[in-house]
Formats: sequence, structure tokens, C-alpha cells
Amino acid sequence: MTRIFSGVKPTGHLTLGNYLGAVRQWAKVDQHRADALFCIVDLHALTVEHDPGRVCRLSRQATTLLLAAGLEPAQCTVFVQSHVDEHARLSYLLECVATDGEMRRMIQYKEKSARERAHGGSVRLSLLTYPVLMAADILAYGADEVPVGDDQRQHVELTRDLAVRFNQRYGHTFVTPRATHPVVAARVMDLQEPTSKMGKSHDAGAGIVYLLDEPDVVRKKIMRAVTDSGQEVEYDREAKPGISNLLEILAACTDGEPEKLGGAYTSYGALKKDTADAVVEVLRPLQERHRELVADPAYVDGVLKEGAERARGMARPTVDAAYRAIGL
Ligand code: ADP
Repeated sequence: MTRIFSGVKPTGHLTLGNYLGAVRQWAKVDQHRADALFCIVDLHALTVEHDPGRVCRLSRQATTLLLAAGLEPAQCTVFVQSHVDEHARLSYLLECVATDGEMRRMIQYKEKSARERAHGGSVRLSLLTYPVLMAADILAYGADEVPVGDDQRQHVELTRDLAVRFNQRYGHTFVTPRATHPVVAARVMDLQEPTSKMGKSHDAGAGIVYLLDEPDVVRKKIMRAVTDSGQEVEYDREAKPGISNLLEILAACTDGEPEKLGGAYTSYGALKKDTADAVVEVLRPLQERHRELVADPAYVDGVLKEGAERARGMARPTVDAAYRAIGL
């Protein structure tokens, strides 16, 4: 059976981008067609300035949201990265296979390190080595597929390179995974700044819809979304990034196609209203289920405990084999 691995970082509250670009696909499709692992990658949340108490709370919230979004523990494995030591164990071995030049070429590293420096901060070494830990996350489980949004494409490529290199040097140990991307909404953009992605780690802004935003907040954010010059509602990512983003969100929420939906509107206002309605409808059941789960902390604890045990059982043989192969 195909094995898939994907994750979410508890660096902030989950956004509509996380949901449409990743989590929805995990819940609706991936968990039913494969042996799937979904991980709250809390070690990755330590690569930038963080508040120790908050990471733990956000991990918990992310877990609850994934379950609320429809992940079923009977169908897939949901767990927290730091509960399974194999990730850190394997990461170190892969650091001995990767090069610093490779790390410095990663687009996300360049962007995030520049942002840290611009704010007068120092750049943690773990920000540079982050893609190696991500490779360990994936390779430890022998994952065949990694469903991710566009922003993670380069990191999955690196994971493939490291797997191939390790196997060539030390004997076949790892499965070489491949990334899969959703057809629609692989890159949901910020509503106020439609040329940059809607990211939970960015400063809380009017351009980000969070999964737990109340319906009136969602509506306000979408109605105030930046639009483009001109009047025509058409899907053109280059010339009309704001409108195209709204069309993409609407299409993802209604199982439509952004190109076709464009033709149905004669005003920006009508498109915004329908997009807001569609998003509110998509979030409603998720928010209801989230409320129920928050009231049942023992259930969430149980899911995480069982998930970690299952994940450990899968990762340990592969990581042990990697230690033997490399000569330890
Ligand atoms: P973030 O940038 O919000 O911290 P994560 O690294 O936790 O995102 O990513 C979790 C999943 O959500 C990944 O598969 C990522 O590709 C996807 N994702 C994140 N932001 C977006 C977005 N704006 N549009 C589409 N997918 C996204």
C-alpha cells in the first residue's frame, strides 16, 4: 500500500491556506487511499523565535483542528514529531550526507533568514538545517508520497536527493519519495498582499483567514481583500493576482474551476460575497467539530499517544537500518 507522510508546523494558528492547500486533501482523499501519517512538526517550530508555552498550546490546537477537519485515527496516524525520537536521530545522519551549499540554496531559507536579519534578529542554525529534519521526517517512514502545497516543492526535491545519495553511498536504505500537489489552491495568497502566500507564521494580518475565525470576521477579511485595477473578473495570476486568488479560493471551496468561475461574475463585489459565503460554509462544520473536541481532551490525548506509538513502530526499523548502513 502506498505510504504518505505530511505535516503542519505549530508556529501559529492554522489558516485557510493550510486547509485548502493541504489538510482538506488529507482528510477527503489521502487517508482513504493510502497508509497515511500526519505529523504536527513541533521541532520545526523552534527554528525561529518562539515562546515555549505557546508551541505546546499550538501543537494541541493543530491536532484538534486536524481531527476537526476530518482526519480519522482509525484511518491514519496523527502524532506529534517530538514524541518520536527517530526524527532527530535520523536528521543527524542526513546532515552528514547533505552539504551546506545545498541548504543555503533553499528559497525558504533565503526568505526567512532575510526576514529575521531585517528585524535585527540572529538566524538560528536550525533554520538552515530545517530541510534535513524534514527529509528525516519523510524518509524515516519510507513514505512514497508527500502531499504538500507549492511552497514545499523544493524541500521534497532535496529529500529525494538525500535519499538517492545515501542509498548510493551506503546501500539501499530509503524509499525515494515524490511530492504531490493539489490541483486547485496549491498556493492560497494573502488577501491584502496577493503576491505573497497566506502563511500562518506571518504577523497576524487582515489578509489571513484563520480556521477558527468567526463568520463575521471571515466575511470582513474577504470583503476587504485587495483587488486589481480594471473591472473584469478573470483568472490571470500575473495580471490580476487579487481576483485570481479569490477565484481560486471560491473554486476550492465549491469544487469548481477558477477559470470557468470568472465568467460568471460582472463585479468584484459579487465575487467577494460568494467567496465569503463559500468559506464560511466550509469552515462551519470544522468549527463545530473543533468545539466538541476541545470539550473532550482525553480523546485527543489518546489519539496522540496511540499515534506516537504507531509512528515509532514504523520509523525505528528504518532508522536503525540507516545507523547500521552508515557504519555505527
Ligand atoms: P505555514 O506556511 O502556514 O507555516 P506549514 O509549513 O505548516 O505552513 O504547512 C502545512 C501545509 O500547508 C503544507 O503542505 C504547506 O504546503 C501547506 N500550505 C501552507 N500555506 C499554504 C498556502 N498559503 N496555500 C496552500 N498551501 C499552503
